[in-house]
Amino acid sequence: MLLIKCPWCGERDMVEFTHGGDATKVYPKDPNATTSEEWHDFIYLRENPCGEHVEYWHHVAGCRQWLKVRRDTTTHDILTTAPADGDLDT
Ligand SMILES: [Zn+2]
Repeated sequence: MLLIKCPWCGERDMVEFTHGGDATKVYPKDPNATTSEEWHDFIYLRENPCGEHVEYWHHVAGCRQWLKVRRDTTTHDILTTAPADGDLDT
């Protein structure tokens, strides 16, 4: 069983969560000045890192809050978690 530590609920089975994608992508600062190519890259292009990666997860079967998870993609270890608008410990 893989456990994810929700900042509000504590450790829970990962089946309670859904993956929300790459948390390192930054929303365009001026959407009206963003070109179609930049929108394409923002929406569709993702890295496929080997090692530590920061992702959004949604505690959909729990408190329904969004969180950030730093996860090792090679071992699936959950390294740290934080609220989606918070900072992860290093
Ligand atoms: Zn929760």
